[in-house]
Amino acid sequence: RYEALAQPGKIGSLELPHRILMGSMHMGLEHDDDEMIARLCAFYRERALGGAALIITGGACVLPEGGGHMLTLTNPRHVERLAQLPKAVHEVGGRIALQLYHAGRYAFSEEIGQQAVAPSPLPSRLTRETPREMTLEDIRRTIEGYANAARTAKEIGFDAIEIMGSEGYLLNQFLSPVTNHRNDEYGGDFERRMRLPLEVVEAVRRAVGPAYPIIFRMSGLDCMPGSTTAEETIQFAQALERAGVDALNVGIGWHEAAVPTVQQVVPRGGFAGVAGFVRQHVTVPVLAANRLNVPEVANELVADGFLDFIAPARPWLADAEFAKKILEGDRDGLNVCIACNQSCLDHTLVKPYRVVSCLVNPRAGYEALRPRVKGPARRRVAVVGGGPAGLEAARAAAERGHEVTLFERDKELGGQFRLASRIPGKDEFLETIRYYEVMLERLGVTVTMQTEPSLDQLAEFDDVIVAVGVKPKAPGIPGEDLPHVVSYQDLLMGRVQPGRNIVILGAGGIGCDVAVFLGTRRRMTPEAHAFFEEQGLPVPEPIERTITMLARSDRIGRGIGRSTRWVVRQEMQRLGVNVVPNVAMLEITRDGVRIAREGREELVPADQVVLCTGQLPHEADWVEKLPPRVRVHVVGGAKDSRDINAARAIREAWTAAYEI
Ligand code: SF4
Repeated sequence: RYEALAQPGKIGSLELPHRILMGSMHMGLEHDDDEMIARLCAFYRERALGGAALIITGGACVLPEGGGHMLTLTNPRHVERLAQLPKAVHEVGGRIALQLYHAGRYAFSEEIGQQAVAPSPLPSRLTRETPREMTLEDIRRTIEGYANAARTAKEIGFDAIEIMGSEGYLLNQFLSPVTNHRNDEYGGDFERRMRLPLEVVEAVRRAVGPAYPIIFRMSGLDCMPGSTTAEETIQFAQALERAGVDALNVGIGWHEAAVPTVQQVVPRGGFAGVAGFVRQHVTVPVLAANRLNVPEVANELVADGFLDFIAPARPWLADAEFAKKILEGDRDGLNVCIACNQSCLDHTLVKPYRVVSCLVNPRAGYEALRPRVKGPARRRVAVVGGGPAGLEAARAAAERGHEVTLFERDKELGGQFRLASRIPGKDEFLETIRYYEVMLERLGVTVTMQTEPSLDQLAEFDDVIVAVGVKPKAPGIPGEDLPHVVSYQDLLMGRVQPGRNIVILGAGGIGCDVAVFLGTRRRMTPEAHAFFEEQGLPVPEPIERTITMLARSDRIGRGIGRSTRWVVRQEMQRLGVNVVPNVAMLEITRDGVRIAREGREELVPADQVVLCTGQLPHEADWVEKLPPRVRVHVVGGAKDSRDINAARAIREAWTAAYEI
């Protein structure tokens, strides 16, 4: 079905059965530790079995100063650890490339035990530190470091290497005038700024010989003001080809760039045009990622000549069988990465770092700890609630071999995911609901809609998983029962119409979502806008609507992960949402909300007040009346509504089901 993706291909001498690769990602398992490495091997082994034509690992440092919390190729013990990866992948017939990495000014001094190094001593927004300028001796040592690392990778069995030269890491730093202010042979004009990455490639080629596959991950677009131009990018791509690389993996955006590149607001395949532009100017194969999460988009991009291979990373967290399912045409059974970043990227951005996993697939990263085995005996399991936690509980319990019945009181499955899918740019959540519906049917789960089970019904089961979720919490101030006060649920589900002068109480993740929802609804959809323009019709004026968000503190978007919070805040600003921080909410009146701030009281006028002031667990006190024979497992928001998010709810559901 996806013909272009199914074609065999080649990267240098490496023959690949199809066009679906797994891109590099750091798993937080790359440690000098037996258990962690066993988990990493199991993770990669499952992706090889899931059909990855080639797996590209997370970065391994070429020199100690280049990384910190990862394995380093100058350390013999770390090399032994790394050698286990190709062994694990080859055992199941897969192929694996090692990514060679040097962070330069993105390294944290407390992790590498010294000041970071960079082309020039310019402060880094990412680390909030200033690196030391590399000497010519540092540069020589770095080139040698890459060459030695490549030789080692080849010796310990990796099928290829990828040199990390994008996302603002060291080699990218040398290329860009933003970070390279040198005036010697490694800085100044573009020829000299290209010099280090090209010398690295030449040294690596000499070290590994002519036939060993080298992929270079170059930056197609830095998304940094004043950085490398499009012409220079092409010049660099061609120079890399001449220097001996076998493929170019085109990355997008530096880690400190203020442009979203991997969040839900980025359209599927939205950056593939950049890779396509590079591909027009070189003869080696071109790879890319960035929101290539579904086969229909990826296949078209390959068929249309934008790319030779796709190399996404996160979709392989969401579904270990990403390639297998695509090649078998099982689009319905694909668990699609929804670009939420909640259990992957966000786990790598806050310290202490957490093991990377996936919101829609909590097994990712835990394959070795939770092998897919049947439960000790087939039990009758009831799952109460068809939101994200209930769906995962039912799926996982059925996968364990149990006889599962799911009860949902609404007429649709999905719970909070269905609400979230109403937010502009978040319709990816519908993919997850579709996936669960398909899996429950395949696994033979009995789904009973619009039903709240009676105690007698539940008493017939061996286990009851309570996943009834949360309900909105009122702020506890006078006037909260007035008719123009509405819940975010009613608003998002269209049960009430938005007012014209709206105040949102609460500035957590839900408050921000509601603000974006309302802000976007002032305008026409882009499609309608384009239609009016194409037809030469006057474009209707946007609806006049003011949106004010009242926040108790200045922490706007608390609960949204670090990778995404700035994007949401940027979007709210673009949509003209008026955010008022640090207020005490005193009372809701018929005319608005009375608040106190900076020692003064005032009325914020409103014809509608939307409550986004937290959540409470749905009542589930009936569980105490079940006979003691029935084992009860309470998960997600029903267990604890404080700071509940989908990632925690789904993980708890999966864990509970696994333990039955
Ligand atoms: Fe994709 Fe979200 Fe899973 Fe990350 S956590 S892989 S972004 S679905």
